Amino acid sequence: MLMQNEPSFRESVDLMFDRAVKFMDLGPGLREKIKVCNSTYTVRFGVRLRGKIETFVGYRSVHSEHMEPVKGGIRYATSVNQDEVEALAALMTYKCALVETPFGGSKGGLCIDPRAWDEHELEQITRRFAYELIKRDLINPAQNVPAPDMGTGEREMAWIADQYARMNTTDINAKACVTGKPPHAGGIQGRVEATGRGVQFALREFFRHPEDKAAARLSGDLDGKRVIVQGLGNVGYHAAKFLSEEDGALIIGIIERDGAIVSDAGLEIEAVKHWIAQTGGVKGFPGATYIEDGASVLEQPCDILIPAAMEGVINRGNAERIQAPLIIEAANGPVTFGADEILRKKGTLIIPDMYANAGGVTVSYFEWVKNLSHIRFGRMQRRAEEARSRLMVEELERLSADKGLGWTLSPDFKEKFLTGSDELALVRSGLDDTMRTAYQSMRDVWHGRPEVGDLRVAAYIVAIDRVAKTYKSKGL
Ligand code: GLU
Repeated sequence: MLMQNEPSFRESVDLMFDRAVKFMDLGPGLREKIKVCNSTYTVRFGVRLRGKIETFVGYRSVHSEHMEPVKGGIRYATSVNQDEVEALAALMTYKCALVETPFGGSKGGLCIDPRAWDEHELEQITRRFAYELIKRDLINPAQNVPAPDMGTGEREMAWIADQYARMNTTDINAKACVTGKPPHAGGIQGRVEATGRGVQFALREFFRHPEDKAAARLSGDLDGKRVIVQGLGNVGYHAAKFLSEEDGALIIGIIERDGAIVSDAGLEIEAVKHWIAQTGGVKGFPGATYIEDGASVLEQPCDILIPAAMEGVINRGNAERIQAPLIIEAANGPVTFGADEILRKKGTLIIPDMYANAGGVTVSYFEWVKNLSHIRFGRMQRRAEEARSRLMVEELERLSADKGLGWTLSPDFKEKFLTGSDELALVRSGLDDTMRTAYQSMRDVWHGRPEVGDLRVAAYIVAIDRVAKTYKSKGL
């Protein structure tokens, strides 16, 4: 995917790191310690499939153990390689620091085309890969906690959790060894939608600040904004769905593997998703124009561009032609370092990956806490809230009776007020709160230190500063 003369993904992340530390007062030793990837484990294993032994190559990279466990997804794709896994692990360190989830950064990957194998075969492969990682404590509730990423989901996480439980029968915290599990297997409501939901919350927060919108030559709110999204996988699908169904954004372009579809009237996400499931691609979707060269649609005019597929898609080769004034990086690393420099000069505003897609790991954190606490998520807080709400209702009714006001609360409202919050509502409000707080911390640096220039540099500064503080307080 990368153009010639473009640094590799890991180099790109390191260059972004270097650009940010220039504005910080960090000794060269600590700077280097934070930047480097601590270790990368490569495993090659064989699985007997379809009558012969197939060999697979997998990785688990640990970028920083300033906090443990380290955290990050496991990706299944043929393009997986060591450089990519290390770049993604580094981004996890900064992402976790930025949204204050108390984890170090890690990432894993398996070189595989998941569509080439059936479910039973994928289970065998996943269990074998997990076995190799568990043996080396590269999957462990206290040390290294994977999650879904490109090409994996709830199903793979359930297999990994079960594999860990079989190999650690006395570990009472076994379920916390991986996040993104299905709710009936120790998962949490709202994890599947979390990354896309986080993108929505990030954009809502961005649109709350007139100066920030003005910096992207935008005004008003999300209603009617023209959006192009690349990738209708888990992240792109949820982001596009929520933005169009709840905020009134118009999805005027969708780029997928087999090309792109565009429609000025806006595309209905559920219908497109259904079409892809039925036909295998976007081609032929009724009422839209099909464009075979999907990547060219990245360059079409729109208000917001959401790359939600993979790294390197906006590079030196096409950056100059990108017309969107605002890019929100739902994927990890979709804009290369070279493209970032070009876009900065053009005045394109970028909401960076480490913030934009942090919704996933944020809700992973809620799931991990839920597994370790062995109680339903938020149950204690909910009980306390219920007691407070009940006191308020009683006080209101007493006052009304005392003063002869005759106020009554409708039974419907009372019911909602007293028993309203379920796990999903708690997860969503916790995520919203996290996305708002993290945005503020990034924004303070962006506006408070004009020399910094943009949100990405600001995000790196906030994240690196937090990691550095942890290292320093550990006595390094
Ligand atoms: N793979 C996701 C990411 O890149 C989620 C990681 C997690 O939940 O640990 O952020």
